[in-house]
Amino acid sequence: MFRAAAEEVLGEIEVSGFTKAWLPTVRSLLQSSPDLSAVSGNFSARTIRLLRVAQAFQQALHKEKLIDLSELYWRAIEYSPEPQKVLIYGYFQPRKDELSWINAISAPDSVLFLPAPDAPLFQDVQRSVEWLVEQGWELVEAGGKGGEIGAQLSQTFIRARSRGSETVATEIALTQNSGFAVTAHYYSTFKAEMRSTLAQVKVLLNAGTPARDIAIIARDEVAYGPQLIDLAWEYGVLLRALYDTPLLSTRLGAWLSLLIEVIDTGWQFEATAKLLSHPLCSNPDKNFWATVRFEHPVGFQKWQKIAQDLLQIDLSLLKKIHQLERRDSWVEWWQDVFRTFGLRKRCARWSRESIAFNNLQRGLVELSKPEAEKLEWTEVCREFRDLLQVLTVPAQPGRGGVELHKPTSVVGARYAHLFVLGMAEGVLPAMISNDPVLDFFERQQLQQQGLALPTAAEMARREALSFYALLQTATGNLTFSYAELKDRQGQLPSPYLKQLGLKPGEPPESAIASPEELRRVSLRHSGDYKDTVLPHARHAFGIEQHRESSDVPNEYDGIIGIPLDYTDWVFSASQLRNLGQCPFKWFADKLLKLGPPVEVDEDLSPSQIGQLYHKVLELVLAAKQQQPELDITDAQILEEKFAIAERQIIPADLPSWSLRRSEHLRCLKLALADPDFLPEGAEPLQLEANFSGEWHGLKVRGQVDRIDRTENGLVLIDYKTGKSRPSGIKDRNGKAWIDVQLPLYQEAAGPDLFPNEPVANAHYYSIRGRNKIALSSRAPQHELPDVLDRCKAHLDQGHYPVQPDNGRSACTYCDFDALCRQGDRLSRKGNSNGTD
Ligand code: SF4
Repeated sequence: MFRAAAEEVLGEIEVSGFTKAWLPTVRSLLQSSPDLSAVSGNFSARTIRLLRVAQAFQQALHKEKLIDLSELYWRAIEYSPEPQKVLIYGYFQPRKDELSWINAISAPDSVLFLPAPDAPLFQDVQRSVEWLVEQGWELVEAGGKGGEIGAQLSQTFIRARSRGSETVATEIALTQNSGFAVTAHYYSTFKAEMRSTLAQVKVLLNAGTPARDIAIIARDEVAYGPQLIDLAWEYGVLLRALYDTPLLSTRLGAWLSLLIEVIDTGWQFEATAKLLSHPLCSNPDKNFWATVRFEHPVGFQKWQKIAQDLLQIDLSLLKKIHQLERRDSWVEWWQDVFRTFGLRKRCARWSRESIAFNNLQRGLVELSKPEAEKLEWTEVCREFRDLLQVLTVPAQPGRGGVELHKPTSVVGARYAHLFVLGMAEGVLPAMISNDPVLDFFERQQLQQQGLALPTAAEMARREALSFYALLQTATGNLTFSYAELKDRQGQLPSPYLKQLGLKPGEPPESAIASPEELRRVSLRHSGDYKDTVLPHARHAFGIEQHRESSDVPNEYDGIIGIPLDYTDWVFSASQLRNLGQCPFKWFADKLLKLGPPVEVDEDLSPSQIGQLYHKVLELVLAAKQQQPELDITDAQILEEKFAIAERQIIPADLPSWSLRRSEHLRCLKLALADPDFLPEGAEPLQLEANFSGEWHGLKVRGQVDRIDRTENGLVLIDYKTGKSRPSGIKDRNGKAWIDVQLPLYQEAAGPDLFPNEPVANAHYYSIRGRNKIALSSRAPQHELPDVLDRCKAHLDQGHYPVQPDNGRSACTYCDFDALCRQGDRLSRKGNSNGTD
């Protein structure tokens, strides 16, 4: 409704997050005056627009017999409530609307407590008092409970501020309250601060202190909340955090937002797999993951089948989005979606999600109005997303437990143990900054017209007053703390600490507060306690320490010491290259079989492009074998063979293939026209020829792309799509440049395929570079027999160290870097390049 009202004034709004940015300011306007239509003045264009939007929103609400919560008191006053005798405590900084409401409902002899000592900090409260006196209230001085620690501390705070913030308060008469302590600590990090605080809380709870006597305070609850909730769970401390978070931050909100993304982006693989495997949707088994990884489905139809077959979820409802529908029909559609996925039941597993679901239901009622209005899918989504941002839920709802609050939420309460986190400059007090939608100058202009919008000075006083009220809640121990480092930024202590005469000191020694912490400590110390995880953790920790040390590699680094009988093992050129470049790479792939599962790429992979090029060249040259007079540069032949290969290799629904096709066709056309590709006098004898045999005592097998007969003898050719010479096996200095493939072709493939013909040469041919690539003249190819002996020694000894070549070219496309933990540690292990 807000967006519709704003669009009525501003025209179509394309910006995402508009509601989130504008609605809070519009609400503060509604709160500031009973009647915005009476406001007039020489305002900026932006202020005028904002006022018009606020009025349009208000009128739209009223037309539907609704109000926004921000105007609650003003509208309630219009109903002329029956005054009653009331006692009001805890509203120490009433706003204009609250004050008007209190005045309207209070009968004679009502009492309202307001702290209004004679100090600059209370000038806004004093103005409120004056206004109440004008309305007929009587001012009665109340005696404070000066003995309580919080009351004393708050007086110290006022005195220090009255003297100026630079004055250090020196007289804290706190020690009169024996047994209680006011302390301030600094911690190295944000996390250390939270851990220590929760550990202190746990100690109190274990000593029998009721949870209701303890409170944790953070000015920025949202910054502390999520981590505190997680740590409290680890510590077994029941923590309640009642601050509001957007529905979008809940599991439900995130899942619904993902659902919209999936529909809008055409059911892409990653997003859809995430959506369907989410705990709010299904409990997918291994079968689901194996299937989707293998099939890599994209598009609604493929996913619909998978969801039906493997998850028993019928997605057909999600197809019906390309239509103009009435608002109420769209809301009914969302309800059907909720039913399809059983969201109500799934959300019931978590109290926060359950609240989120119920709040969303209420929000949808609003979205359905006006019922007869017709909307497109994009419009519905935009409004639905706004709803997810505007609706809120408590961060950690429930009953009982220690509560996390911000200072303004505890005014009037009493706590025997108060922990105030984040006592850092710019955090408490918070930095006063301009509202990007309505700056302080514009606010001042509006204030002159009677709108109760706080100025920067008032906001600063409000902040100090909340702290003053917070201090008053303490009846026992009060612990302040801050982290010297937060988000890698240094922090200074809050000036309020100085005004209280407190100097932050070293944190108290922290108790071990969770099994995880005990385990962490026990890892390094002997002594046992009952924990099934600890022996495994110690074992794993020892392995990691050994791995990182300069000690010789052990079985966790590939030195298994189990010989491999490779008599029947068949090696390919790439296996030999891997073994010779980094033995661990071969070990992880071939012996441990830890290679990644086969997945279909959404895009064309380099290997598919390679297959396409190979296939086209094979088909063209096969035609030449049939018809020797055929001109291989003939564009028509190429087009014909390309079309055949394309059908075999390229997925039918590959996006933008039609655009990329011509680039590949052109690349092949240029290669076929290159004189080096099929030199004068060369006769293509065999294409994609399989060979096998024995080579340097190893069984070998492979496939040669092409064998030409020339007047000097056979020439064996391997096509490469890249332009550079492929890396080879390491020499004795660790440089990976001894080629294994071409010697293998020359010495094993040639004699196997054509035993009676001499082999003249073997070379690579770069299709993209259009040039022959021969063996490097500088590489120590003569070391090849020794290198192959080295490979055999690895197999004989079960010795597969993590020893890539010096340039780490072996690591470039390696799937095992997470397993081998290569990195700086390898320099500590020493590297013999297999010569030991
Ligand atoms: S990432 Fe490098 S060091 Fe690790 S296994 Fe692969 S090639 Fe060897």
